[in-house]
Amino acid sequence: MSKKEIKLAKYAGFCYGVKRAVETAKKLKLENPNKNVYVFGELIHNADVINELEALGIRTLYEIPEKVENSICIIRSHGASPDIISKLTDAGFEIHDLTCLDVKKVQQKAMELVKDGYYLVIVGKAEHPEVVAIRAHAEQYGNNILVSNDVKELKQHEEKLKQNKKIGVVVQTTQRLETLNKIVEYLTSISKELKIYNTICLSTSHRQNEARELAKENDLILVVGSKKSANTTHLAEILNKISKTIHIENADELKDYDEILNSSEKIAVTAGASTPVNIIDNVINYIKGGK
Ligand code: SF4
Repeated sequence: MSKKEIKLAKYAGFCYGVKRAVETAKKLKLENPNKNVYVFGELIHNADVINELEALGIRTLYEIPEKVENSICIIRSHGASPDIISKLTDAGFEIHDLTCLDVKKVQQKAMELVKDGYYLVIVGKAEHPEVVAIRAHAEQYGNNILVSNDVKELKQHEEKLKQNKKIGVVVQTTQRLETLNKIVEYLTSISKELKIYNTICLSTSHRQNEARELAKENDLILVVGSKKSANTTHLAEILNKISKTIHIENADELKDYDEILNSSEKIAVTAGASTPVNIIDNVINYIKGGK
């Protein structure tokens, strides 16, 4: 490959919430070698990290057993619904809550809005675990709640929304600002009172803003991270509209892109919040011709 200019984003890879979750999980196992350590749901969307944790004896729990002894259960950075936490506690788990503090803030705001009589709109993907937990927290105080990241879908509930005098909005921490803006524009047109909390986390905003600039300045931008990860796929969607963008999970997938890599002189690399540094390094080495 010809000599290339390669730029790695400053905000590539683990965010502080994921870093804290991974480090604390390892520390917990180290400090409790005789206890079973579980995480409820995959700690992060990255198979390599999950395998590494498994090798250390930190296992992923998908279903709650009836009774356990001598067992710790970690709540991952996405959070969990109050019902799940109480079932885990009843089963006998010692709970370690590693819900990211930014996610906790969204849960808090969502609960406040419902308590104060607002019809709550959660801007996000309904099936994403973070959103499921935010919704479950808010549902403790009422059922006037909608989850959507699409104006067309919200329009189907227009009558219901119009009947309610007050509408409150929170956002999944990893959503795109453009998505929030479109939904707010629509809700403004149909509501009398609208309260908006922009709860997109700082780590996501920094990562997206920096990547936008890099996409403008380079011939090609690579987004490294799991295709199951919300923040990584949103990053790729944003960049696709600005520049040539390739979303890969790891360096192995780059084999299919040799032609475009060869024809690009300036290449930028960014990565999602759940992408470990060694995977990013392997990608950089591949582009440099190290393969
Ligand atoms: S992406 Fe943001 S909200 Fe999610 S874990 Fe990272 S810092 Fe926390």
